[in-house]
Amino acid sequence: MSSDLTNAAQRVAIERIAAALDLPAFDQGWVWLAGAGPGDPGLITVLGLSAIAGADVILYDALINRALLKLARPGAELVFAGKRAGKRSCKQSDISRTLISLAKKGKRVLRLKGGDPLVFGRGAEEALALAGAGVPFRIVPGVTAGIGGLAYAGIPVTHRDTNHVVTFVTGHGPDGKLPDLDWRAIARGSPTLVLYMARKHAGEIAANLIAAGRRVDEPAAIVSNASFTDQIVQVTTLSELGAATTQSAAPAILVIGENVRLRDGMDWLGAMAGRVLVPALRPPLSEVS
Ligand code: SAH
Repeated sequence: MSSDLTNAAQRVAIERIAAALDLPAFDQGWVWLAGAGPGDPGLITVLGLSAIAGADVILYDALINRALLKLARPGAELVFAGKRAGKRSCKQSDISRTLISLAKKGKRVLRLKGGDPLVFGRGAEEALALAGAGVPFRIVPGVTAGIGGLAYAGIPVTHRDTNHVVTFVTGHGPDGKLPDLDWRAIARGSPTLVLYMARKHAGEIAANLIAAGRRVDEPAAIVSNASFTDQIVQVTTLSELGAATTQSAAPAILVIGENVRLRDGMDWLGAMAGRVLVPALRPPLSEVS
């Protein structure tokens, strides 16, 4: 009983914040496609939070932090609609069909995805299916793992001393194989590469990049369970990346580039645990004569 009251009080607080900020109402018969952020529940947006509190049905992915679901209304239906590497628990077409039929029944439907719904998350497929069925929808962006997750590892996705370009790559093609990409162009064009779903093919990716001219000793990192309490960061080199990437079920972001070195000066989570941070790679450009 008391936990119901707490839930009600929490949802009232969220509603008040939403009203103060004049956020849009979650109307019946709508689908909201929202990002939950990479893991730390604090990284969801205020709009995402208000959608959780207002939804009648929440279809959530494997990668979201389940703690967020505590803020759903007591009668809300919570449906797991996750797919994890290799395991086809839910077909994409079934998910889209479910979203459409629930919305047509007049429900407020929240599709809650890890990170940002439109970054390697098939959110666009769902949005296009909704549009095709004439179901109104809103997209609520989220903090993507390849940016926010790296920030929790103390690795900036860009820094003017290291990279003016960043490339986001998926290691997982529609058939489960490494997508057929122009590795020479990627290797030459982007000092920093951020790889999603790349555990399985990490060795092959590294070999392709080295064959295309990238240095074997270039720094690389593997950030597993980024921004969750059990986050693990391994720093390695491009030639060791394949061997260092274990085949675990934990989600991992791989990053390759000189910006990885900045972690020595920016590992703020490590600093909270006593790590002594050392000054950055080299003086900022403004100090270089
Ligand atoms: N839409 C998501 C990405 C979905 S694809 C986003 O914007 O973040 C799934 C991949 O995202 C995982 O295989 C992994 O590469 C990455 N990922 C998602 N959450 C992660 C986390 N907490 N830690 C590390 N990688 C994560």
